[in-house]
Amino acid sequence: MICYRCRDTIAEEDFFYNDHEKFVCKPCFEDARRCFICRFPGNQMEEVEGLGMECEFCRGKLVMEGIDMETMVAPLRSFLLPFGFKVPDRPRWVWTDRQELRSMQTGADLPPDEFIDDFLRYCYPVYYHEGAYHLLRRMTKPTFIAYAVVQLAAGDLSGRYALPDLAGISPFHIFGRGWCHWLGYEVTRLLGYDLERRQLRKWPQLGAQGDFERWERMSRVNKPGKMVAYFKANLSALVKKNLAP
Ligand SMILES: [Zn+2]
Ligand SMILES: [Zn+2]
Repeated sequence: MICYRCRDTIAEEDFFYNDHEKFVCKPCFEDARRCFICRFPGNQMEEVEGLGMECEFCRGKLVMEGIDMETMVAPLRSFLLPFGFKVPDRPRWVWTDRQELRSMQTGADLPPDEFIDDFLRYCYPVYYHEGAYHLLRRMTKPTFIAYAVVQLAAGDLSGRYALPDLAGISPFHIFGRGWCHWLGYEVTRLLGYDLERRQLRKWPQLGAQGDFERWERMSRVNKPGKMVAYFKANLSALVKKNLAP
């Protein structure tokens, strides 16, 4: 094997890093700055302002500023509709710095995000807040799809109850977020996005992992209409309890 960065030979028994059909030797791997999205130590790394490093393999292939958002969103409208969620005709997308997006969602003093996986442990890369859908500056398409579903649903629910977003710790907020999160989880199953599915399983603030498994079993035998009825009934009971003036 030849190292992609230094062109030295990597002996068979030596450590190597492998992605994008390239191999990188241990010294190069340890020295290099790595891509925020894919972790690869590229040869032409560039810093994206408000995000982090980006490699030559990810560059240009991600959901990023300048992309035609409507093409991305149209299939999500038809996915969300049978679940009772309406996507606005022209959602307001706002490209937002990583740090700002994080502080919108958590005030916790967290370790810095080295890679997108670290970010996803605490935050959504798409986040609805006060009429806008905030977006991390670079995402893979599966990441965007999974989390856009979650937040388009969250935006619709927030609008219905005149809330700025779904942040909050009441049972209404937790159940509402759980429902939206589950929809994202569901879309990853339908599209075979295994990585995103694993990431959505680990959402730490949701506190509803047990429910997830129950909902997953339910959705195998129930049509979307039945699932909607179940979520709606539970949510409206919580509205009375938790959102009463
Ligand atoms: Zn090397
Ligand atoms: Zn990359």
